[in-house]
Amino acid sequence: IDFRRAQFVTSAPDIHHLPEDSGMEIAFAGRSNAGKSSALNTLTDHRGLAHTSKRPGRTQLINVFRLTDDKRLIDLPGYGFAKVPLEMKLQWQEKLAQYLEERRCLKGLVVLMDIRHPLKDLDHNMIRWGVAAGMPVLVLLTKADKLKQAEKQKTLRTVKAALAELEGEIVVQLFSSLKGTGREPALKVLTEWFDR
Ligand code: GDP
Repeated sequence: IDFRRAQFVTSAPDIHHLPEDSGMEIAFAGRSNAGKSSALNTLTDHRGLAHTSKRPGRTQLINVFRLTDDKRLIDLPGYGFAKVPLEMKLQWQEKLAQYLEERRCLKGLVVLMDIRHPLKDLDHNMIRWGVAAGMPVLVLLTKADKLKQAEKQKTLRTVKAALAELEGEIVVQLFSSLKGTGREPALKVLTEWFDR
């Protein structure tokens, strides 16, 4: 699969506006500001593919990117932004839950976490949900360029250890959109999922 061929398809306000539930999808989730849009742009080598957010937490849409006729990447709305009304937070959670529970073509979940603030409750929930659904989960520790080498490795070990107890198919990797770190290993994992 050539990830550079990714093309924007649509922004859906809810799962009823998504393309037909067939083929395979891999979904990207993370707290707002985790670096999800940047990671999507880096992975697809496409600077403006996913719009990096100037106003974190305000993009509530499910963005769909097409790789081939039957393979898609899904950019889920960021979660956990503090400064939005509770009502809105609940709406997002419902939207996320609905997508995750009902989308049959969903084959894998990528969870992005800022390496400086890993494994918040909502991240944990997300990963747990993926494991419970029997799905492989790729955890990307983003903005890895922000930490020194020893600190990166330490966080990587800590997060791996914390997730080991979930006994799921979980891969944890370092990632930096700024430096391109972790791009190839992440693409390798995604390609393997799509080829299953
Ligand atoms: P999203 O809300 O999860 O889509 O996050 P964005 O991709 O919009 O990124 C949020 C902020 O983090 C922006 O200011 C980005 O420039 C910054 N950022 C994203 N990735 C990296 C990275 O790899 N390194 C650094 N240093 N900053 C990053």
